[in-house]
Amino acid sequence: MGYSLVPYISQAEIAAAVQQLAKQIDQDYAGQSLVIVAVLKGAFVFVADLVRQLRSPIQRIELLRLSSYGAATTSSGQVQVLVGLDAAAIAQQPVLLVEDIVDTGRSTAVALNLLRDCYPASVKLCSLLDKPARRTTPVQIDYLGITVEDRFIVGYGLDWNERHRELPAIYAVKQESATAVEGRLDSAK
Ligand code: 5GP
Ligand code: MG
Repeated sequence: MGYSLVPYISQAEIAAAVQQLAKQIDQDYAGQSLVIVAVLKGAFVFVADLVRQLRSPIQRIELLRLSSYGAATTSSGQVQVLVGLDAAAIAQQPVLLVEDIVDTGRSTAVALNLLRDCYPASVKLCSLLDKPARRTTPVQIDYLGITVEDRFIVGYGLDWNERHRELPAIYAVKQESATAVEGRLDSAK
């Protein structure tokens, strides 16, 4: 089945949101040295931009890898821990968990539980995007960039079956019916 990508959040809107988030985090942490924990793979672009906007000192950047989607456009509900946390890096430290998007909330809840098992001094959650319509597991987002509708989106780290992470802006995936695709192919002949 064919699909097209419809512009949804521009590079400028993303940049403004990242800057605003960095400002809030800097104000709250007031010079405290942070441990950043980013959830891979989706958050890799966002965290790279965020850390370069922060003025707060960063002690270290840790990467946690979770997986829930597979090739589908809705969450499978099963969250797998593919790469876990280094507990010694987290213990007694102020931790900022960085997510690309909170959708059902399941993977964020898993990440928060993994973190708490490492006894950090504090944990706050920063997510670029929030899709509240699909929430099944409540999570408190301390720093939120942009609220999105219940649509499947790609770009800026977010993939569809591993594709489109490299796009600098965010797009909604529009599925085209088989007949529409055939019609387009016919007219291209
Ligand atoms: P959860 O449902 O556990 O809150 O979300 C898990 C993960 O699914 C997110 O971190 C993100 O990587 C992925 N995800 C959720 N919504 C979308 C979406 O609209 N597009 C893409 N590409 N990934 C999403
Ligand atoms: Mg994610």
